[in-house]
Amino acid sequence: MTRHYNFCAGPAALPSAVLERARSELLDYQGRGLSVMEMSHRSDEFVAIAERAEADLRDLLAIPSHYRVLFLQGGASMQFSMIPMNLLGQGGSANFIQTGVWGKKALNEAKRLGFACHVAASSEANGHTAVPGEESLTISDDAAYLHYTSNETIGGLEFDYIPQAIRVDGNDVPLVCDMSSNILSGPIDVSEFGVIYAGAQKNIGPAGLTIVLVRDDLLGSAPSTIPSLFDYQLLAEAGSMVNTPPTYAWYLSGLVFQWLKNDVGGLEAMDAMNQRKAQKLYAAIDGSRFYSNPIARQNRSRMNVPFVLADERLDALFLREADEAGLLNLKGHRSVGGMRASLYNAVPEEAVDALIAFMADFEQRRG
Ligand code: PMP
Repeated sequence: MTRHYNFCAGPAALPSAVLERARSELLDYQGRGLSVMEMSHRSDEFVAIAERAEADLRDLLAIPSHYRVLFLQGGASMQFSMIPMNLLGQGGSANFIQTGVWGKKALNEAKRLGFACHVAASSEANGHTAVPGEESLTISDDAAYLHYTSNETIGGLEFDYIPQAIRVDGNDVPLVCDMSSNILSGPIDVSEFGVIYAGAQKNIGPAGLTIVLVRDDLLGSAPSTIPSLFDYQLLAEAGSMVNTPPTYAWYLSGLVFQWLKNDVGGLEAMDAMNQRKAQKLYAAIDGSRFYSNPIARQNRSRMNVPFVLADERLDALFLREADEAGLLNLKGHRSVGGMRASLYNAVPEEAVDALIAFMADFEQRRG
């Protein structure tokens, strides 16, 4: 069996050690004679798996005790609706920093539901190649929260700062962050945020699970007319088990958290590895006349590295040869074309070395 290097943007590479552990437990979980997939979510065994996963995640991110951790379904996209439904229950408007495709979708969903929305800053004018400076933020007087996307997965644009949102009246506005594609890539200060959310299928685990961290004071203001499955307060009270949660994805994500803690050595070690991987690839791109990346240096994503070839007629050949060399899923998003190498936590440094060597060889032969 050969596992190739997988640069997919999501669902993305999982650590081989995690998949091996899951395989060893697949048919018979710890001598219980059944698979995790076949267990009741209310069984002692599954509740222990669920609690362990939450405890490990709390540990990794140093999540303060006044935050709830929710394990939900519906993807990050469902949070685009759930956030305004929960946080605008008392009125006010949603403020957004727009830096690309995903932030725009979040804005559009809030608009679609009829909520008042305000764009506090946008990088549209520079083609989403540089994050707007913090001084350019205009927070509306009635802002209930400020939403931003810490890493735009398609554009490859990552914030290099945590925005501070302060209204004219001097009040702090809760920050809401879509961290789908860079959560767990390094340490963060959770206490800076009101809500953090992420679809699992990049740095957390398999698709089907969405993790939401909510500060306690933001619970309980949703109107009682919203579906109970959308209500953070009800979900938190039920330990994310208002209905059947995605049990296997939850279990597998728990194994990823254990891998991060025990094999990698925590998020600082992960951060250092991610920095190294990204720096190498950007250096290779910058050092060539054949490959290029348009993003301002301070905002280049460590997780998603889009690049184009000098001659786009070579794209198909590049992808075919890369695939044959065991370098999978390098095609850029369908909306932008070109290439994209996603370097999530489970993509080892050797994969980046192999990609760089392939790129140099391709350039020499075809460039
Ligand atoms: N936000 C970001 C930053 C993403 O990258 C994605 C998925 N690629 C989403 C939201 C949507 O996630 P989902 O498919 O889980 O709804």
